[in-house]
Formats: sequence, structure tokens, C-alpha cells
Amino acid sequence: MYAPYSRCTLCPRNCGANRLRGETGYCGEQAALRIAAASLHRGEEPPVSGSQGSGTLFISGCNLRCTFCQNHQISQGGMGKGLSPQGFAALCLALQQEGAENINLVTGSHAVPALERGLREARSQGLALPVLWNSSAYELPETLSLLESLVDGYMPDLKTLDSALAARFFHAPDYPEYAQKAILWMLQERPLRFEGTRLRSGVIIRHLVLPGYLESTHRVLAWFAEQAQGRALLSLMTQYTPVRLPGTPSGGAPDRQVQPQEYEQILAWLDRFGITDGFYQELASSPEGAVLPDFSRGEPFPPELARTIWRPPAAH
Ligand code: SF4
Repeated sequence: MYAPYSRCTLCPRNCGANRLRGETGYCGEQAALRIAAASLHRGEEPPVSGSQGSGTLFISGCNLRCTFCQNHQISQGGMGKGLSPQGFAALCLALQQEGAENINLVTGSHAVPALERGLREARSQGLALPVLWNSSAYELPETLSLLESLVDGYMPDLKTLDSALAARFFHAPDYPEYAQKAILWMLQERPLRFEGTRLRSGVIIRHLVLPGYLESTHRVLAWFAEQAQGRALLSLMTQYTPVRLPGTPSGGAPDRQVQPQEYEQILAWLDRFGITDGFYQELASSPEGAVLPDFSRGEPFPPELARTIWRPPAAH
């Protein structure tokens, strides 16, 4: 079962861990698929959230582990519950039943074989929604191709093209190389297609602006303009809010929000590069920045942002 886990080389970390025998690699996960929450999420991009909300499934563990991760309780803190393919399928169908616009798989790069099994089960039981792959882009096309017939759209981050920043914040100096390859593969696989205002297929490239590191954003915008303009949407996120992960040094992650003059500069660059297809957030109006999710609560998100329909029993 799940042969690729026996000597795991599913992602660029290339750990070689035997996850079937209880070993874990950089992602911190064994072979079992673990899920931390299932929610109807209204905070995604408009064609993804639609009117009913995106059916978001938060997968435990992560192969990138950013030092500023807002979901660190589930990406690095071990929260979540193991589910069989049937249990995973039941969650997908429950989200469909609740009116979700799509199934939105958050950070599953390290769990592709189990997700493939779960999605096949869900499809066989009547899942008819588009499936969206929401990832860091630190992944391999050959691994992503295992899901090729099951995924309709991709929402990869392009966090930075600066190898030194990638080394500092994710301990992955090769992130720029792998993320570019993965995103170019996604662009080739899935042209943009809408049903009305809803995304049915295609790629939305997301970039979180890191306060004080605007040169990194400039490089990402230049890359988008050259490689993806007209073939994908850009989602520019300015919600950065400092997070200090328990027991870990900040790694020099920014300790403040994006400032108004930085925001103006970024909008000017969008203009200069002629990037018009996509979305950018309003600058956070609260001095504390965005409200961070708290997965130790029954409802991790503010009610205007999400409605959670499932949590592991011991999570709250
Ligand atoms: S998926 Fe996890 S164990 Fe496998 S190579 Fe990546 S980080 Fe290592």
C-alpha cells in the first residue's frame, strides 16, 4: 500500500524516509493521511470562494515549514487526525452536501499517494465538484502527475525567487528552482476556464508580500509578467502578520506588517508590468494585521471568514 512512502522521494527534500514503517522526513508525517479541519471558506479569491465558500481541507504536516507560517499548529505542530480513503471521501461529500463550490486541498504535497486514493474514492461515491490543489509549489511534476486526472485547478504560492531568502525562511535554497518548474508544469496542464464567475480549471499564482523584502516581490512580478501573464491569474497577498512559532527562532522573518508606502510601490509595479489579471488585497486596516487562525478552537476562523464543518475530536 502506498509504495512511494517506503523510501520517500515525493518532494525535493528527498528524505528517503520509510514512512510505512513509522519514520518521518522533513514533512513530519508518516504514511497515514491526517486532516486538521474541513471548512467552507469565504476568504479565498472570488472565483474560488464563489457565493457558498470553498470546501477547504487542511492537511497536517508540510514539506516547507516556513518560519512565519500562520497555520503552524497543523503544518508543524502535529494537529490532525488520520483518515482512511473512505473517511477522506466522506469529508469531501459532506462539504459538497453543505454547498461548497469546490474541494480545496491545502498543503498536501507530502501526502499525494494517500490523497490520490481518497479522491478516487470520493469521485466513485459521487463527488462532482472541481478539485483545487493549494500548495507551496515546493513539489515535483512527477509527483503532481499522480493526481493529474483528479485535480482541476492549481493555486501554488510563488513565495520568492531569491535563494538566500528561501534558505533563511524555509531552509530550502533550491525553492526557486523547484517552484518555477512545478508552476510551469501546472500552466501547461491546466488552461484557465470559468463557469460563469467560478474557476473550473486553471492556475492562480499566489504571492505573499514579505514586509521589508520588496525586491523579492519585484522579481516575482517580473517572472509572472514574462512567464504566466495571460495564462494564469495572480493573487497578491499583503496580509502578512508576524507569527512566532513556539520553540523556534524567527529566522529573521519580518516582525511587522506591510506599510502603506510599500503597498503603493507594489501597486505601481503591477501597473508597470501591465499585470491586470488577478487580485490584490486591501492593506490590513487593523494594527494587529490579519486575524490569525487558531486551530485549538472548535471554530479556528472568524465567522465572517469560514464555517468549519469538521474537526478532529481531540482538537478542541
Ligand atoms: S514528502 Fe516528506 S518524507 Fe517525503 S521527501 Fe518530502 S519531506 Fe521528505
